[in-house]
Amino acid sequence: MIESHSRHGLIVISAPSGAGKSTLCGKLLEDFPARLALSVSTTSRAPRGQEQHGKEYFFTDSQDFQKRITADEFAEWALVHGNYYGTQKATLEHFWSSGRHVLLDIDVQGAASLKKLYGDRCFTVFIAPPSMEELERRLRGRGTDSEETIRKRMANAAGEMARQVEFDRIIVNEDFARARAELDQAVREFMDGQESGTWQKAP
Ligand code: ADP
Ligand code: 5GP
Repeated sequence: MIESHSRHGLIVISAPSGAGKSTLCGKLLEDFPARLALSVSTTSRAPRGQEQHGKEYFFTDSQDFQKRITADEFAEWALVHGNYYGTQKATLEHFWSSGRHVLLDIDVQGAASLKKLYGDRCFTVFIAPPSMEELERRLRGRGTDSEETIRKRMANAAGEMARQVEFDRIIVNEDFARARAELDQAVREFMDGQESGTWQKAP
C-alpha cells in the first residue's frame, strides 16, 4: 500500500452504465469546484462523437498503452468492453500537489485496484439503479446507444452489480435530488476527514 503525508485523497465512483454516474459526478464537481478535480483517463478506444483528446480522455492506441503499462505509468488500468483504460499516476500527483482531491469515474476493476493500493486514502462509491428494468429504461431514454450496445451494457451490468458489496458506500439513484444530496454529504465527510487526518470509514 502507498503511504503518503498528503492531505488529499481519491473519490472513486463506479456504476453500471446508465445508472446516472456521469450526471452525479457533474453535480459533485459543481458543488465542490475548489476542492475536487476530475481525473482524465487514458484509453485505447476511439473517440466518440464530439470527444476531444485531453478533455474526455487521452486517446492512444493499444501498442502505446501497453508500452505505458510496462513503463509503470498507471496507478491502475483495466480492459473494459475490449478496450484499455487507465489512470496515470502523474494525473493524481498533479491534482494532489495543487491541493485538490481527485474524482475518478472508472469501472469496478479499477475501483478495487485503487482501494488496494491507497487504502483509507481512497473512498469508493457504487451508484446503483433502483432496478434492472429502470436501468434499461434510462439507457434507452438517453438515446445515445445502439440496440447492440444496450444489450452488451445490460449483460455487463449484472456482473458489476454483484461487486457492489466491495465498495465503501452504495448510493441508490432513484430520486435524483436525494442521491445527489447523499453523495455530497458522503464526499464532504471524506474530504474533511482526509484534511484533518481523522477519516475512517463507518463500520
Ligand atoms: P452513466 O454515466 O451512469 O452511464 P448517465 O448519467 O448518462 O449514466 O444517466 C443515464 C440517463 O439516466 C440520463 O439520461 C440521465 O439524465 C438519466 N438519469 C440519471 N439519474 C436519474 C434519476 N435519478 N432518475 C431518472 N433518470 C435519471
Ligand atoms: P466509456 O468508453 O463509455 O467512456 O467507458 C467505459 C467504462 O470504462 C466506464 O465504466 C468507465 O467508468 C470506465 N473507465 C473510464 N476510465 C477508466 C480508467 O481509467 N480505468 C478504469 N478501470 N476504467 C475506466
